[in-house]
Amino acid sequence: MKPALHAIDANAPPLPYYAPAGHECALFELAWKRRVPLLVKGPTGCGKTRFVAHMAAKLGLPLFTVSCHDDLTAADLTGRYLLKGGETVWVDGPLTRAVRQGGICYLDEVVEARKDVAVVLHPLADDRRVLPLERTGEQLIAPPHFMLVVSYNPGYQSLLKALKPSTRQRFAAIEFGFLPHAQEVAVVAAESGLVPERVAPLVTLAARLRHLKGHDLEEGVSTRLLVYCASLIAEGLPLRDAVLAAMIEPLTDDADVKAALIEVAQAVI
Ligand code: ADP
Repeated sequence: MKPALHAIDANAPPLPYYAPAGHECALFELAWKRRVPLLVKGPTGCGKTRFVAHMAAKLGLPLFTVSCHDDLTAADLTGRYLLKGGETVWVDGPLTRAVRQGGICYLDEVVEARKDVAVVLHPLADDRRVLPLERTGEQLIAPPHFMLVVSYNPGYQSLLKALKPSTRQRFAAIEFGFLPHAQEVAVVAAESGLVPERVAPLVTLAARLRHLKGHDLEEGVSTRLLVYCASLIAEGLPLRDAVLAAMIEPLTDDADVKAALIEVAQAVI
């Protein structure tokens, strides 16, 4: 089968809205054409998942998303034999479905997954493009319109949870950060329906709070939280209540840190 790039039909659902920060859409498209797997790194809530959803829709490809967690094993991705009505049947996992059908398999927060996941990803992420299914004895060759995309948050990296060089060097990589002020205002306004003039101070506050990352905070305010905050305000919640609920409480449980964040907020809004 040919790559599905031009197979987008007029009745297709609209593209998920994505405001690019640079040339990442062109890079993604070229990587897909040349069968280069992609690693997207960046802090939580900065637009990585939205980017992948946007690109999958733009290229007319099915998207198989897996949110990785520390119990996720290779079998969760490839599949397993299950008992169904007294019979044992093989059921494909999401990675196997993506390889059989073609499309994008997106493994979100891949460093969280168990170590055996790397074993199935390696032959798929290099020029062999093969997924060996030991249990069924199959060797699936990925079709041209299959692409592997993984993401992770370098901020959470620890020695125990780091991608090994042998894994990361099988991917081209893009680093995501938060958008510049004016662009982030436009995104939050578009996503929440709050007018840009009322979004702007929230984005200014987010920038201040992001500076505290590493001192008192593990993570700064994400664009996702900004969208929540602006949506609550658009819905009628008073500004300060919305800021507390969506931009301060989710960041910390420490009373002193919270008091310091409230002080910063009061100085800005
Ligand atoms: P993550 O980086 O954790 O995958 P998401 O892609 O889920 O983050 O982004 C969180 C939210 O932020 C999205 O649902 C969307 O509302 C908004 N967002 C962030 N960046 C963008 C962007 N560049 N264009 C459009 N929406 C964005």
